Order: sequence, then structure tokens, then C-alpha cells
Amino acid sequence: MKLDGKVALVTGSSQGIGQAIAIRLAQDGASVVINYRSHPEGAQETLNQVQAAGGKCHMAQSDVGATIQADLGQVSEVQRLISESVERFGQVDILVNNAGLEKRADFWDVSEEDYDKVTDVNLKGVFFAAQAFVKHLKQTNRPGKIINISSVHEELPFPHFTTYCISKGGVKMMMRNLAVELGPLGITINNVAPGAIATPINKDLLEDKEKLNAVLKNIPLGRLGKPEDVSNLVAFLASSDADYITGSTFYVDGGLLWNYQEQ
Ligand code: NAD
Repeated sequence: MKLDGKVALVTGSSQGIGQAIAIRLAQDGASVVINYRSHPEGAQETLNQVQAAGGKCHMAQSDVGATIQADLGQVSEVQRLISESVERFGQVDILVNNAGLEKRADFWDVSEEDYDKVTDVNLKGVFFAAQAFVKHLKQTNRPGKIINISSVHEELPFPHFTTYCISKGGVKMMMRNLAVELGPLGITINNVAPGAIATPINKDLLEDKEKLNAVLKNIPLGRLGKPEDVSNLVAFLASSDADYITGSTFYVDGGLLWNYQEQ
């Protein structure tokens, strides 16, 4: 059990990649805080699976996981999420910044409201979650790990999704900067950058065969990713096997990044 005795907080884990990460970290022995904004049923489903996975680690059911509601687009909520997680489990060792959203629009049509919606969660939320987590680690004088679920679009242009690219590109530089600033505190930070993964965020793509086939042509491994393709890597980065790794982005994209052509 590589994460025995560790507490992990996974933001936005009521579905998709976040749900798979929460379950995988529990399988590896961590206690998991499952954050959600507006789908308590999804969070409960994650908790059920986390408890089923964590139960095998001989922990009391109540120590295996808990759900906490918080809107990651509001800094006060982000700070409350960290402090409630610490209250509930006594510590947090691993922060997975997973919550995110995207909005499609031509550049000239992007509204201030949509710009804020995307960047508030994907960039500001990530920044202040990391800040509150680091304050907790400093106060308790302990090391920790931050893993951001960014995207191939921290690197790769994605026309009509400029707000999304701004947010993920911002998280890339935040991660590099913090690797340098937080290294001396024993805190590591890395990005996991998925390509096209079959989750609800890609609902439109999954329902449009023509578009899907066009995307598949860009993926050398010939298939969309599964949430577990991402959670496997997160589990490694969260473990002590990755203690000497900080400041890097790891792509989970079936080779998409080097083969991308605009459709
Ligand atoms: P998803 O839509 O299934 O999940 C996103 C999660 O974020 C949901 O649980 C949602 O409730 C949560 N969330 C959104 N706004 C929130 C808020 N204000 N407060 C709290 N939670 C909030 O999509 P996913 O594919 O599982 O995405 C997870 C992460 O992976 C995102 O950061 C996304 O940008 C990134 N990503 C996904 C793909 C992909 O192809 N699926 C590719 C690259 C990056």
C-alpha cells in the first residue's frame, strides 16, 4: 500500500477523471477527500467506490473517505475546502487539482462571464488551492505533493477554446515556478496533461461519430484515453516512488501531442 497513512484531496471528483483518481488513490491506501460542486449523488457514488477500495486496506470506513461540497471558482470556498479536509482527517498530504471546465466560443464572442467562469476554476482555483495547501504544510512542517490535471492544451493551441488554453498554460507556468519556490520546503508539484479522454467533458465529441473519427486519426495509439489511464500516472506521482520528481508535465495522450492537426 504505497499511500498508506496519507490523506489525498481530489477536487471535482464526482465524475470523470477525478472520480477515477479518487478510487485509485484509495486502492493504494490513502484516505480520500472527494470534492464536488453540485452533484452530491456523483460524489456519493465516488465515496461508495472509494470505501469499497479502501476497505481492503483494513481502515475504518469513516477513515477511508469523505465528501465535501465546495465551489472551486470562489477563493473563500477553496480555502474552506482545505481547512475542512484538515479538520476531518487531521492532515492533507496530496492535493490533486482536477476540477475544470471548458467553454467553446469564437474569440470575438467570448463574454467576460465565460472568461471568468473558466479561468476562476481552472487557474485561480488551482492557485489558491495550492496556496492553502502549502500554508497547511508549512504550519505542520511536513512535505507534500501537488498534482495538477492540466491538458495537452497547456502546450497545444485549441482554436475556439482560448480561455481554456489560457488557464492550462497558466497552470504550466505556475507549476514550474512553484517547483522552484516550494522545493526547499519538500513540496513537489507536477502536471498531468491528458489528451482526449472519454469523460462527460467530451460528451459532444463522443456523440458525434464524424468528429470522433477525426480526433482518433490524430491519436497514434488509435483510441481515446480512459480515466484510469490518467489515474495510474497520478497514483505514481502521489507515491514516494516520485519523491525526486518536481516541475514536470507528463502527457497521457496516446501520442496526440506530436501528431495533432486542426480539423
Ligand atoms: P468532467 O467534466 O467529467 O469533470 C470535471 C469535474 O470538475 C466535474 O466533477 C465538475 O463538477 C468539476 N468542477 C467543474 N467546476 C467546478 C467548480 N466550480 N467547483 C468544483 N468542481 C468543479 O471532465 P474530466 O474530463 O473528468 O476533467 C477533469 C480534468 O481533466 C479537468 O481539469 C479537465 O480540464 C482535464 N482534462 C480533461 C481531458 C479530457 O479529454 N477529458 C483532457 C485534458 C484535460
